[in-house]
Amino acid sequence: MKNLAILGSTGSIGESTFDIATRFSDRFSVLALAAGGFRLERLAEQVRACGAKLVAVHQEDQAERLRSLLDDQVEVCWGTEGLVRVAGAPGVDLVISAIVGAAGLIPTYTALLEGRDVAVANKETLVVAGELVIEAARKTGARVLPVDSEHSALFQLLQGRKSEEIRSLILTASGGPFRGWKTDKLENVAAREALVHPNWSMGPKITVDSATLMNKGLEVIEAHWLFGVPSHRIRVTIHPQSVVHSIVEFVDGSMMAQLGVADMRVPISYALGYPERLPMEESKLDLWALKALTFEPPDREAFPCLDLAYRAIEGGGNAPAVLSGANEVAVEAFLAGQIRFLQIAEAVAAALDAHDPRPIDSIHTALEVDRWARRFTWDWVARWGRRN
Ligand code: NAD
Ligand code: MG
Repeated sequence: MKNLAILGSTGSIGESTFDIATRFSDRFSVLALAAGGFRLERLAEQVRACGAKLVAVHQEDQAERLRSLLDDQVEVCWGTEGLVRVAGAPGVDLVISAIVGAAGLIPTYTALLEGRDVAVANKETLVVAGELVIEAARKTGARVLPVDSEHSALFQLLQGRKSEEIRSLILTASGGPFRGWKTDKLENVAAREALVHPNWSMGPKITVDSATLMNKGLEVIEAHWLFGVPSHRIRVTIHPQSVVHSIVEFVDGSMMAQLGVADMRVPISYALGYPERLPMEESKLDLWALKALTFEPPDREAFPCLDLAYRAIEGGGNAPAVLSGANEVAVEAFLAGQIRFLQIAEAVAAALDAHDPRPIDSIHTALEVDRWARRFTWDWVARWGRRN
């Protein structure tokens, strides 16, 4: 029996994880859960269904409300401290890190420092503090299991490989809802248009990130830290069908790819079951129903976020944390109608231009940089955003 703690259990990844964990109840037991405060009834339902005895929410008043929905034996805590307690709950073997944004950093890092295996969906954690996170895992021997579909693909493809064999890692991207659009057409994109992804059903932030291609940029940085490959050997190809989830190119010119349906339950199940595979009966790729698998270069001019991410990882130090923090705020402002779609990249570029390059030598520094980037970007939004 593997005991799980799920951080972000009411989100898109969290719900899929919960679904698999409860479906394979002979293999998994969910001991603790954490989520933000928007879907408290659902969180209470999950707690009752899995019998967890510890649960955390974002704020104190949400904790009060959740207590009123649960019986007294369930301990309800809140805030970062609550998340850390959930990730460190006694008996937990695997933590699923599926909170969105830098809020996932501290519990993920703490779990690894304590030697717990973590299945990481929360890519922002690796972007903000990849070096520290990987170093913590190396020190304690904890496993970092990728959940992101591209990284799960690479993780599977790289089993038993030596780094000298690898020429490049190729991440596939669907291209999002605006694939093929040029800057003039992107000018007036509305939030509701950016929230419709052609192939994947995901939370709002990553859906917008997919539309700007920032998601792929964040994934380049994520791959850099997970697999120790320099960013100039991590390439991106647009692959609109989302069937090939990533490709490894070897030094002899051979390429190996991982294929599957566009359903996050597949990579999640791999991370949960690792090193075993779970029988996911419904996840069958019908090869004969596939028309064609196509690959094309990304349009770096219309979607500048991709190159901003390369710029950040090549700059190193705190630049990726600035990129991530600024992007989180810019996406939030875009969704709230405060800035236009193309201004997401402008805001992030402005933050990168303005930041003071320094190494990230501690989690404290990482959080400080994240805070600086957020403040800077809210100021930018106030200055350059729409006036009501
Ligand atoms: P989501 O918005 O659907 O869910 C986020 C979850 O985090 C929710 O449960 C929310 O309540 C919780 N949360 C947010 N802030 C919190 C806080 N301060 N404290 C406690 N809980 C908090 O997001 P998602 O799409 O599931 O994505 C989660 C992470 O996984 C992101 O980092 C995303 O980039 C990554 N990811 C998602 C997908 C996908 O298909 N959805 C694929 C690959 C990677
Ligand atoms: Mg992905």
